[in-house]
Amino acid sequence: MSGRIGIPLERSPGERRVALVPAHVSSLLKVGFEVHVEKGAGEASGYLDAAYEAAGATVVATAADLWKQSDIVLTVRAGAAATPSVAKAWLHAGQIVVGTMDPWAPHDSFATFLKAGVSSFSMELIPRTTRAQAMDVLSSQSNLAGYKGVLLAAELLPKMFPLSMTAAGTIIPAKVFVLGAGVAGLQAIATAKRLGAVVSAFDVRAAVKEQVQSLGAKFIEFDVGDASGAGGYAKELTPEQQAKQKELMAGYVKDIDVIVSTAAIPGRPSPKLITEAMVTSMAPGSVIVDLASERGGNCELTEPGKTVVKHGVTICGPLNIASTVAFHASQLYSKNITTFLLNLVNKEKQLVIDPSDDIVAATLLTHGGKPGSEKIASILGLSAN
Ligand code: NAD
Repeated sequence: MSGRIGIPLERSPGERRVALVPAHVSSLLKVGFEVHVEKGAGEASGYLDAAYEAAGATVVATAADLWKQSDIVLTVRAGAAATPSVAKAWLHAGQIVVGTMDPWAPHDSFATFLKAGVSSFSMELIPRTTRAQAMDVLSSQSNLAGYKGVLLAAELLPKMFPLSMTAAGTIIPAKVFVLGAGVAGLQAIATAKRLGAVVSAFDVRAAVKEQVQSLGAKFIEFDVGDASGAGGYAKELTPEQQAKQKELMAGYVKDIDVIVSTAAIPGRPSPKLITEAMVTSMAPGSVIVDLASERGGNCELTEPGKTVVKHGVTICGPLNIASTVAFHASQLYSKNITTFLLNLVNKEKQLVIDPSDDIVAATLLTHGGKPGSEKIASILGLSAN
């Protein structure tokens, strides 16, 4: 197979990750691709041009050359945040663009891809199946977010996390409550435990209880009913269930030093589960790290992208937290996207976009000037034709 893969320098504000790391170049060369990398694309995450060249890639001087000359462009963010920096004249019919596309937020990229005849794939829509596990960017990046979120909390809290008994007195361990124990939440629990905190957690999916306990944390039984949905995700609670959850949480969080919140519903704004009254009830100096900030946050007082102090409580709303662990975030993302691309290559080493493949069907946003499917058209808010 011949085909040129391009790896651009990410231009979305604050983005430090790169879509492909040098270690994965050889797996693409092996099936016959050429790999071109824009100058400095990996620098912010610790991967230098020389390392790409040593792995067999070619370094290209400008974004324009990279995009124009590539049959396939692998990106971290090709959606809302990035596309304005990609000149429309650089795109061409039949070109494939893969990346996170923010498919649930209406933005111009989709119309641009449709008009240019680009086949675009959204990595966020990878199905949660065993076959697609190695491609699951939401999991790989959430895992890092859970880890880093706890480190941020430890840094902001004016207390130690672990128990310490010294001649000068005994320090009791910090109490950390993790709200939402999916991929990020479970990593947050594990990290807070490693730092010596007393950790508890809650999730609306019943299956999570055992996972929380197996990490040595306490599962808090707020009895709001099981809200397990398809693909390991949660269903949105009814207003009554949500009111009950808030009432039960209010009695609990007043004694907590740190809340790390990760509660999310796919494609929906984050549920506002931590009320202003709950924040007011917490001791001064307590910390809330709201990892659900990308979609508005779990706390009523979160200001996405900022750290603010309200009623004496520090509320941190980090955005794109995975990018702060850019070396490993890129490594894992690169494995996800390489596995995804190689899934499109058949036994004859031909790249085929086969909509009967469930992974292709779920992720193909635009193809041949049309949305990938009716389902995709409805997610993007476009007409299917
Ligand atoms: P997510 O980011 O959509 O949500 C984070 C967590 O918030 C979830 O655990 C969810 O149940 C929880 N939540 C939602 N509403 C809540 C509320 N009102 N109160 C408390 N918690 C609430 O989910 P995620 O972390 O990406 O994944 C969830 C699960 O999916 C994982 O734990 C895993 O079991 C499963 N999964 C499966 C695969 C696979 O099979 N390939 C891959 C990744 C994840």
